Amino acid sequence: MTVTRFAPSPTGLLHLGHAHSALFAWRAAREPGGRFLLRIEDIDPTRCRPEFDEALRRDLAWLGLSWPLPVRRQSEHMDDYAAALARLDALGVVYPCFCTRKDIEEEIARAGHAPHGPDGPLYPGTCRRLAADERAARRDAGQPFALRLDVARAAALAGSLAWHDRAHGPLRAAPETLGDVVLARKDVPTSYHLSVTVDDHLQGVTLVTRGEDLFHATHLHRLLQALLGYEVPDYHHHGLLTDAQGRRLSKRDGALSLAALREAGRSPAEIRALAGVPD
Ligand code: GLU
Repeated sequence: MTVTRFAPSPTGLLHLGHAHSALFAWRAAREPGGRFLLRIEDIDPTRCRPEFDEALRRDLAWLGLSWPLPVRRQSEHMDDYAAALARLDALGVVYPCFCTRKDIEEEIARAGHAPHGPDGPLYPGTCRRLAADERAARRDAGQPFALRLDVARAAALAGSLAWHDRAHGPLRAAPETLGDVVLARKDVPTSYHLSVTVDDHLQGVTLVTRGEDLFHATHLHRLLQALLGYEVPDYHHHGLLTDAQGRRLSKRDGALSLAALREAGRSPAEIRALAGVPD
């Protein structure tokens, strides 16, 4: 039985690219006993707004999608992320990072040859190398910190890992490509990587469908699954819709929002065709 999900962040109006992702997940679950879930990824209180949550549900329902209730909203499940974090911490693969953005930039500039990942320079590991007494002193002084994954240590602990992508076939996980990612932010006690991995497990998602822009993240999620003893879902990373200039659609393209298209008189069937997932 296939369980898929569409997991938007309510930070703006949905556009055709989101319609493509949502319909892709919906279609993948269209089999006897299949289930399509909606999940609201609203861990960032500075960017997420209730009106965008309402708007996206309205847009998806208008497109013809439905989903079981209650809808999981990540902001209501911080306890689940804290429990997972405690398990990772007990494995000795988590460390506090006191660096500010500026500290990281300066450290990278000083080193001259920072290793790069798919999203830019990797965290240079400054706080991983802090002595225990220095770490304790900064904590005691109340200096704010994020929690990072010691990816080399975690990968050594987990050993060789594989996952399967329906577009790319069998793959060996390469979690180090993103470096020591943040698992819990200074301002929010979780992160995208941690909460998405925990939720897909807790919600029994068997097939994660999402855009190719998140392909590298899956290598890391596979590592977190191994450390946390989770089942491994199947994956299908799909291509991203682009505009006439070949640029990826973004929330800034207000004209392409589903709400704007609806108001301009487009029908759900037309949107499904425009989004590349016709009936
Ligand atoms: N919330 C993520 C986004 O809006 C997608 C989560 C996922 O599919 O893993 O890009």
